[in-house]
Amino acid sequence: MGSYISLPSYLNTIEQRYRLGGKRCEKCGAIFFPPRLICSECGHNRMQKIKLSGNGTVLTYTVIAKGAGPTEFDDLQNMTGDYAVALVELEEGPTVVGQMTYCEPKDLKIGQKVRAVLRVLYEQEGVVRYSYKFTPIT
Ligand SMILES: [Zn+2]
Repeated sequence: MGSYISLPSYLNTIEQRYRLGGKRCEKCGAIFFPPRLICSECGHNRMQKIKLSGNGTVLTYTVIAKGAGPTEFDDLQNMTGDYAVALVELEEGPTVVGQMTYCEPKDLKIGQKVRAVLRVLYEQEGVVRYSYKFTPIT
C-alpha cells in the first residue's frame, strides 16, 4: 500500500523539498523544518524564511527490505535493493526523516555525518517527484 500525496499538496511543499526551506521565529530564534506559521516555542507569528544547510548527523536509521516500504518506492527497490531511511539532526537543530542515497545500508552508522542532495523519489500521477535524500560525507 502506498502513501498518496496529491499533486497540489506536493507542489505546496516544493520549497522545503527542493531547497530545504524552513522558518525561523523572529522573536525567539527557534528554527522549524518543515516550516511553521506560528512558533511552537513562544507563540509568535512572525516567521522568517531560511534555507537550511542540509548538513546533519544520523541519529538512527532503519533498513527497508523488499515489500516493507510504500509501493511508490517499489521501482527504486527493484533497481537498488534494500535502502536505508535515517532520522537526521540538521546542524541548525531540526530533525528530519529522509532516505539515504549513495550508501549501502550495511555501511551506515549512527553518528555518520551526512548532507542533503536533491533526488528523484518516485513518479505519481505522471509527475516525477523530487525531494531531498541524504548521502554520507566522506
Ligand atoms: Zn518563537
